[in-house]
Amino acid sequence: MSTNQYSAIGFLGGIALLFLIVLSGGNIAIMIGVALLVVILYFSFRALKKPPALTIQQKAILVDFDFYKTLTIAERKEFEYRVSYLTQNKEFMGRKDLVVTDRMKILIAATIAQIGFGFEFITFEDFDKIIIFPKAYYSKYTGHYHKGEVNASGVIVLSWADFLEGFKISDDGYNVGLHEIAHALRLEDAIPGDEYHFLKETDLTVWNHVAETEYDNIRAGKPSFIRSYAGTNRQEFFAVCIEQFFEQPQGFYDALPELYKAMARLIKQDPLKRKRNYF
Ligand SMILES: [Zn+2]
Repeated sequence: MSTNQYSAIGFLGGIALLFLIVLSGGNIAIMIGVALLVVILYFSFRALKKPPALTIQQKAILVDFDFYKTLTIAERKEFEYRVSYLTQNKEFMGRKDLVVTDRMKILIAATIAQIGFGFEFITFEDFDKIIIFPKAYYSKYTGHYHKGEVNASGVIVLSWADFLEGFKISDDGYNVGLHEIAHALRLEDAIPGDEYHFLKETDLTVWNHVAETEYDNIRAGKPSFIRSYAGTNRQEFFAVCIEQFFEQPQGFYDALPELYKAMARLIKQDPLKRKRNYF
């Protein structure tokens, strides 16, 4: 839950408590009874909303997911919960005769969970549809073949062949899944709603400041650890940085320590530390 949701719950709870005191005429027994009932109802509701645990087969798919391997036992439980929730609550749709499999759902959900793992659960509520093409698809709007895209109207589009290609070599800094979800993260942060402005303003200021130098370098054609595609615009710069941040944390840190630290601070996780701790 976001801080806003906690404040709203606190506010409503306060009003409910006042009503309770007035209605019960100050009778402690009634007050405790009603409060207990509310707590029981709340937890029953939460239990109902909880997604089913991942099956053994679904967990076996996660075992192949690099990020999962770097998590502690407790973190794995939380990660599995998030993956399960995302697979249950997103609408996955195949295009061009593609049949959506459990493996596709789990790996895409895991990528979403990976990027947001430093935060309290971000469900990417504004992106409820995930469209999967078998391979790069032609877009009549741009006249080009696309490997993926994110649409502010709430759709994440991926080419499955390219998504898999991104995972095949886990340290080459290319990962279409991470790239597209990185775009979704920035949009989710910008679209007003329950999941809004979770990226801290001060962290964003630091990121923008540090990023500007490298962005200018790339645009000026100077060599950089960050892939040149990042020079397309600031959104692409962020998405490419996310790919390299997760896939090449050591190289990233060695080449651009300030930019690496700004990213770790912004998304509240440090892949380098995870790898050091758990591999
Ligand atoms: Zn992009």
